[in-house]
Amino acid sequence: MNSNNTLTQLLSDYRGSIIKKEGLKMDNCIFCKIAAKEIPGKVVYENDTCIAFLDLSQTTNGHTLVIPKEHYDSFLEADAEVMAHCMKVAQKLANKIVENMHAKGCNILTNAKEVAGQTVHHFHIHIIPRYEENDPIKIEFTDRSSVVNLDDIYNEIMK
Ligand code: AMP
Ligand code: ZN
Repeated sequence: MNSNNTLTQLLSDYRGSIIKKEGLKMDNCIFCKIAAKEIPGKVVYENDTCIAFLDLSQTTNGHTLVIPKEHYDSFLEADAEVMAHCMKVAQKLANKIVENMHAKGCNILTNAKEVAGQTVHHFHIHIIPRYEENDPIKIEFTDRSSVVNLDDIYNEIMK
């Protein structure tokens, strides 16, 4: 085994041991506690990597959250593979919820950081079934195309 492989193995063992001992939990994180079954949740799906449960607020009927069992503060810090897995699960579950709840569609969203409306700082994907345009949820994109310069914004991002 070369040194790179050894390091990879050590990291993997270390990660494994943390997951076993601590479950990569964050103290005082309500979603870590739900994942660990320390507090109850209406769990609609679960596997080794993620768990999905009904959002208490029920913005619309069937509003569900998909979270990784490991703690990541938000989408911005989440492990890419874990996040991709959660998204796959969210798609399957969204189809099931839309079908069984007789919804016409859904919004899939994740808030990253307080400025974006994140209130629980454990990465989660919202599945929000939609029944009609007047559902009690508002997601609105303001058209600011007349007051911005796309080239300036593009250059800022690409620098
Ligand atoms: P966000 O504002 O994107 O961070 O979303 C957090 C969501 O978690 C909100 O929609 C809350 O209603 C929901 N929530 C908070 N605590 C719980 C809980 N114990 N069980 C289920 N959902 C919860
Ligand atoms: Zn957590």
